[in-house]
Amino acid sequence: MNCCRTHDDVKAGGMCRTCREEFCDACLVYAYGLSKAPYCVRCALLAVGTTPTAEWTAEYSISA
Ligand SMILES: [Zn+2]
Ligand SMILES: [Zn+2]
Repeated sequence: MNCCRTHDDVKAGGMCRTCREEFCDACLVYAYGLSKAPYCVRCALLAVGTTPTAEWTAEYSISA
């Protein structure tokens, strides 16, 4: 099975529409509803023009 790119031990639930990496449900943002391709959290942030804070990346176990 494919695992989340961020969480090695979690099964991937979908693929980011932007970076085409697979992520678990916790890492995916369905910005346009469940019927449309999701963003990963990082791409969702980039899409709205923000960059992750250190606190945020720590909370989500994401290495920027
Ligand atoms: Zn992405
Ligand atoms: Zn994940």
